[in-house]
Amino acid sequence: MMTTNFTLPKPLRRAGSSASLRTVRIVILGQAAVGKTAVTVRFITKRFIGEYDPTLETIYKHELSLGGDVVHFEILDTAGQEEDALLIEEKIKWGDGFVIVYSVTDRCSFDEVIRLCFLVNHIHSVARKSSPEPPPMVIVANKKDLEFDRMVSTEDGQNLSKGLKLPFHEISARDSSEETAAVFHTLYRDMVQALSSSPTSFRRRAVSKLMEKIPRIYSNAALGSFGRSMSCSSFRDFQQD
Ligand code: GDP
Ligand code: MG
Repeated sequence: MMTTNFTLPKPLRRAGSSASLRTVRIVILGQAAVGKTAVTVRFITKRFIGEYDPTLETIYKHELSLGGDVVHFEILDTAGQEEDALLIEEKIKWGDGFVIVYSVTDRCSFDEVIRLCFLVNHIHSVARKSSPEPPPMVIVANKKDLEFDRMVSTEDGQNLSKGLKLPFHEISARDSSEETAAVFHTLYRDMVQALSSSPTSFRRRAVSKLMEKIPRIYSNAALGSFGRSMSCSSFRDFQQD
């Protein structure tokens, strides 16, 4: 990848000007420390970078060629959902698709998945009366490499997902870039399908003031904002990819 530090993002082609460009907005939800940031950064950089500021909330922008389309991902990596109902509502309204993450080492994070799924469905059904279908969602069981600390079985995850009629991926963001990417590919596929059956569901909505305050990181200009929490050498690795 050819980039220089602090390059400005390329101007976005406007949706509609190219048949093959899609913008998809994805929100990553889940309890603290389940690996939301690790999953997001793994997808975008293909690297696992161990420690992040847990309070960091960011929208990552990333372009990728998928199945003949150039897909422009905007991924909101949330932090601190517990605090304010109004904030979380704004973030959920912003998203078109959702990744709900728990850790197989944390039973409590697993129990939180149901609540988050219902919250997303509820907020979307109120906000988008025109599209009664629930928005595309994927359930992710992360940290499967920590077999010794496991508290939630694969079967528990599968049963929950079956009950909620949602796709399920058990992954290790630490060990596998492919498993992590598969989550986003599944979600993208479902989002395309949702779009074809209900075109109004992806209508761009006005972005609230709150959402404008969340910092953006462009994957080809990531160093500037990441520098706070990651070492430069990690980033050089990523940039040479
Ligand atoms: P967040 O609060 O949900 O964003 O969680 P983070 O992405 O900051 O990760 C929390 C901790 O879990 C960090 O120490 C990560 O290194 C670790 N972690 C994340 N994913 C994995 C994984 O797949 N395996 C292991 N062993 N640790 C992970
Ligand atoms: Mg985080």
